[in-house]
Amino acid sequence: MDKAEQLDDAQTSAENVPDNSRYLSLDDIKQYRLDDEGVPTDTSMNQCLDASRPWLCYWILHALDVLGHTLPVEQVDTVTAFLARCQSAEGGFGGGPGQLPHLAATYAAVSALASLGTEAAYQVIDRPGLRRFLRRCLNSDGSFSMHDDGEVDIRGAYCAAAVARLTNVYEDALFEKTAEWLSSCQTYEGGFSGTPGLEAHGGYTFCGLAALALLGHERLCDLDSLMRWVTNRQMALEGGFSGRTQKLVDACYAYWQGAVFPIIHTLLAKEGSETLSRERWMFHQEALQHYLLHCCENAHGGFFDKPGKNRDFYHTCYALSGLSIAQNFHLGRQHHPRVVGHQNNQLELVHPIYNLVVTKAIAATEYFSKLAVPTEADCSKQAGSPREADLSGGSPAERSGPTGDAAGAPAGQ
Ligand SMILES: [Zn+2]
Repeated sequence: MDKAEQLDDAQTSAENVPDNSRYLSLDDIKQYRLDDEGVPTDTSMNQCLDASRPWLCYWILHALDVLGHTLPVEQVDTVTAFLARCQSAEGGFGGGPGQLPHLAATYAAVSALASLGTEAAYQVIDRPGLRRFLRRCLNSDGSFSMHDDGEVDIRGAYCAAAVARLTNVYEDALFEKTAEWLSSCQTYEGGFSGTPGLEAHGGYTFCGLAALALLGHERLCDLDSLMRWVTNRQMALEGGFSGRTQKLVDACYAYWQGAVFPIIHTLLAKEGSETLSRERWMFHQEALQHYLLHCCENAHGGFFDKPGKNRDFYHTCYALSGLSIAQNFHLGRQHHPRVVGHQNNQLELVHPIYNLVVTKAIAATEYFSKLAVPTEADCSKQAGSPREADLSGGSPAERSGPTGDAAGAPAGQ
């Protein structure tokens, strides 16, 4: 076949394919599910994630939620029982059964249980124990350590504020100095860094602003500077977001950077801004969708960071969350969908602060708001409730086995 024939052949093929729907379909993503055991941790590929097992549950459950997929009851029960085994008798959740409690794993486990959305899942959470654990992680400057004697960074403050608000164990005293510490992490560029004095970064910026929003103190940071930085992270050529100045685009920042826009928009609307759009977020929503669907979708299911990388649960979760935000301008009662590609691509609405499907976030907050905030007496009771023992399927040896650090993080890259 000569070049002219090849060109003709290519054009004929292109004509036979009316659009690029193969790359604009989310149907294949649904192959990415929990296995029969409920948790895919028994393969060599996932051994390095042994201390991130609640994260695996959360990434997969939330991704399925965003796609509108409902799990069978037996699978919901299996995952619920597994997450119960990750809970420490001291309060908080570890990266797996018998591991030390860790704030990131705690956030992931609580979010996964909220995604499961059943009363049995909610009841797994030992709320007095959770509050005890948050108090143990609090430092005198308002920051939070990720675990006992662990590292301190902005993820800790976000994870603590998110689980405290979601499960109604929040107390003013716990976060008295946290908002000021968070604002000290904003850099000269406008984004937030992991701790004061470091480089602005997309994941940490989400954690910083979302935590300030949970504490009702968004105005403690310089919002103009933040908006300038975050709007400049969307790359004109690719349409995706980069995580830092001079870095390449990456699908996961569709959420870490993308969620910053609804949080700022909601605040400005509440403050009565007259120039604010009531139809669009302040980034190019269609361009981000094109990047995710054309460049980051694996033809056999799942998303990856950028072309050339492998698909993984983390990027699948955050690409879908970012895609939902890009598809849906939602402010109060105003809703303006802008779905690129086939209409079946329409995803469920995502709560920009909790990164749960909105219906799941509302259901969980409503459930826990009806329960009393744990009292001092509740929190000082001996750890280890009968409820926890009932749901934990592991052997005593496993529950008291060797401990390990949980490596999962909401802002891992
Ligand atoms: Zn990434």
